[in-house]
Amino acid sequence: MAELIYYCGTMDSGKSTLALQTAHNRKSRGLEGLILTNRDRGGTGVITSRLGLQATAFEVSPEFDIFEYIKSEKANGRKIEYVICDETQFFERSHIEQLSRVVDEMGIDVFAFGILTDFRTKLFPGSERLIELADRVLPLQVEALCWCGARATHNARVANGVMVTEGDQILPGDVGTPQTIGYEVLCRKHHMQKVNSARSQ
Ligand SMILES: [Zn+2]
Repeated sequence: MAELIYYCGTMDSGKSTLALQTAHNRKSRGLEGLILTNRDRGGTGVITSRLGLQATAFEVSPEFDIFEYIKSEKANGRKIEYVICDETQFFERSHIEQLSRVVDEMGIDVFAFGILTDFRTKLFPGSERLIELADRVLPLQVEALCWCGARATHNARVANGVMVTEGDQILPGDVGTPQTIGYEVLCRKHHMQKVNSARSQ
C-alpha cells in the first residue's frame, strides 16, 4: 500500500538532509522518482542541506498540478516510483491534495518534508493540509536545540537581532539576509517570552 508520509520539524532539524538521504537510498536500489521543492535556500530547482549535500529538484509553482504532471510524464513512458517533496510548508493546499491522489490513484509513495509552523507559531497552509491528509505524520528525529539547551520546537524570525512576531508568513527570498532578517529555533518558553540568543546575553 502506497502512503503519504509527512516528516515535520523546525528549521535546523535536518529535514533537507533526510529528504536527500531518502532520495539517495531509493536511487541506489534502482528506483526512479521525482523530487519536488519550493523556494529552497539554495535557489530554484535544487534541494540543499546544511551539511552540504544537494540534488536537482523540480520547482513547484502555485498553479502547477502535481497529479497531472506525473500522469503525463508516466504516459510519456517515464518511470516514477516515488515522490519526494521538500519545503512543503511553501506548497499550496491544492498541491497536498494532488499528492494524496498520486498515492491513492497511482499507488506511488510520497515522502513530504517540511516545517510545521511559522515564526508566529501558526501552521503553514501546506503543513496544515498535510496533517489533515497524511497517512503518517512523523516528527524528525534530529532535534534542534534552543540557545538554553532545551529542545527547540518553534521558529523565530529575528530582525537586526530582535525577535519579531508580526509580518508576512513568507518573505520574498526567505531566509533573508543574515545581517538584517534571519531565523532562529527556540524552545516554546523562550519563543513565548521572545528571548532569542542575542537577547539572552
Ligand atoms: Zn529555550
